[in-house]
Amino acid sequence: AKAEGRSGYRFYTSAMNARVLEKAGLEAALRNALERNEFVLHYQPKIDVASGRWLAVEALLRWDRPGHGLVPPEQFIPALEDTGLIVPVGAWVIEAACRQLGAWQRAGVPLGIAVNVSARQIMRVVREQGGATAPAAGGGGDPLWLAMTTCMRAHQVPPGLLEFELTESTLMLHVDETNAMLLRLKSLGVGLSIDDFGTGYSSLAYLRRLPIDTLKIDGQFIRDLTSNPDDAAIALAILRMAHSLKLKVVAEGVETQAQLDWLSQQGCDQAQGYFIARPMPVDVLEQAWHEHEAR
Ligand code: C2E
Ligand code: CA
Ligand code: CA
Ligand code: CA
Repeated sequence: AKAEGRSGYRFYTSAMNARVLEKAGLEAALRNALERNEFVLHYQPKIDVASGRWLAVEALLRWDRPGHGLVPPEQFIPALEDTGLIVPVGAWVIEAACRQLGAWQRAGVPLGIAVNVSARQIMRVVREQGGATAPAAGGGGDPLWLAMTTCMRAHQVPPGLLEFELTESTLMLHVDETNAMLLRLKSLGVGLSIDDFGTGYSSLAYLRRLPIDTLKIDGQFIRDLTSNPDDAAIALAILRMAHSLKLKVVAEGVETQAQLDWLSQQGCDQAQGYFIARPMPVDVLEQAWHEHEAR
């Protein structure tokens, strides 16, 4: 029994060590990933439900990790958040999105880009890794603002083409900072949406005061929309509430024609999901957009 106990203990520590080592390896690799230019953006279209036209794309981060292939965000964003590396990586995402918007403007592609923003990116404290390069005149000290104003100027991006997606938990965590920053972004003309709406705990009274244009209904309410009356009721309640507050509504995770039909009947403004198009590398996306426009 004693030997078993000991080997059990040894097994436990070696498994734990493996996990600690794996985590340390991941962090070290992530620290180098930015310098080595290993991050890429894939883009997933958002359509206007009524006309079917492509309005914008959401930029989704991928890590092209040597020896591992394309790593999806859930496998490395938590580590970026823990280490604070999400701030410089988030600045890179904004820079890459603005560069792409500039290129599309010159090429006559009128798509906007929505970028996901983490809570860490809107905190006032600029960490030592802070990726923002130049101080923006009169822009305050936060890294998101610095990254954005610098990039938009450099790539001559009309602010109306850029949109930020923030989750309810981000908005509720740093109420004062967030509100001040959102107001400044709004005054520039940047679009602001609440991501994964319905999964957090935002109070309606607070929501009403935020300078937000759009609610994105979380995919979990869309998935069983046509079979689960509770999910349909939630989606409908969000739609009605958003519209009465003069907010646009986007449904994410649309996977079937039946879901899209339901959303269309209920007056949902925009939709996004595998049924419409998957996230794609930029060259594939451009090709798909040209084909879509030619129809
Ligand atoms: P999200 O913002 O909710 O993004 C939507 C996710 O749902 C994406 O996963 C997308 O590929 C996936 N999706 C789209 N359509 C469908 C569908 O019809 N069915 C299903 N089942 N899934 C669909 P992805 O690309 O793996 O991103 C996961 C999450 O990672 C994102 O969730 C977002 O929270 C985070 N993320 C991605 N890029 C960034 C980034 O640049 N910065 C930050 N801070 N977070 C990011
Ligand atoms: Ca999002
Ligand atoms: Ca989402
Ligand atoms: Ca979601």
